[in-house]
Amino acid sequence: MRKYFIAGNWKMNKNAAESVALAEELVRTMGQQYDVDAVICPPFTSLQGVARVIENSTIKVGAQNMHHEQSGAYTGEVSPEMLRHLYVSYVILGHSERRTLFGETDAFINAKVKAALHNRLRPILCVGETLEEREADRMFEVVETQLAGGLDGVEADQTDLLVIAYEPVWAIGTGKTATPDQAEEMHRRIRDWLKKRFSDSVAERIRIVYGGSMKPSNAADLLKNPNIDGGLIGGASLEGRSFADLVKAAAGKSK
Ligand code: PEP
Repeated sequence: MRKYFIAGNWKMNKNAAESVALAEELVRTMGQQYDVDAVICPPFTSLQGVARVIENSTIKVGAQNMHHEQSGAYTGEVSPEMLRHLYVSYVILGHSERRTLFGETDAFINAKVKAALHNRLRPILCVGETLEEREADRMFEVVETQLAGGLDGVEADQTDLLVIAYEPVWAIGTGKTATPDQAEEMHRRIRDWLKKRFSDSVAERIRIVYGGSMKPSNAADLLKNPNIDGGLIGGASLEGRSFADLVKAAAGKSK
């Protein structure tokens, strides 16, 4: 049984006041949601305000990135301990924008994954191929390399905290969605890889969610696939109504 997981990645959008307003709207409109793990990931500057708003709701808060060290001379960075202190539960790691715009490597992402697990933060590890890589039929190799690098040294007994997000780079913010068949094919492949890397039972427990222009109008077709356990949502999470609709689309479908 895997509970559906829907997370909103607000990216570099919404100042502190706007974030609080959106979080308040979500608490009001979504009610208590026990069938789905609903997570919102505002910018660092909004974490504290949003964490206060969602305190008595079933919504959880996530960060969009972090450094792997606990403290030190890392100007501009934020540590796992700082996130824990703000009651942050999840952290997005290895998002394609971090990989391409900020040069994050699998080894760097791996250090963060291990630091998150060590601090009992739940990593949402993002993997996905570019359009060129898909057209060259290299998508499985690329994603498996990212998984192997990102999860290097991670033990089976730490994986209860882990969420994998398959986000084809060509579908992020472009309005192009992977077809449900393309997404399911990759998710199955990822689960098979997790079986080999850990075990059948571990792989069956890990949520593998889809990201890339997911919205209320295409969610149902994606979510009905056996290996698609939810979504990581960018654009459509910035508007209360559409994020709440995505959570509702996933509700009651626990596998
Ligand atoms: C993302 O950036 O994680 C994402 C999936 O964005 P969008 O939904 O806007 O494609």
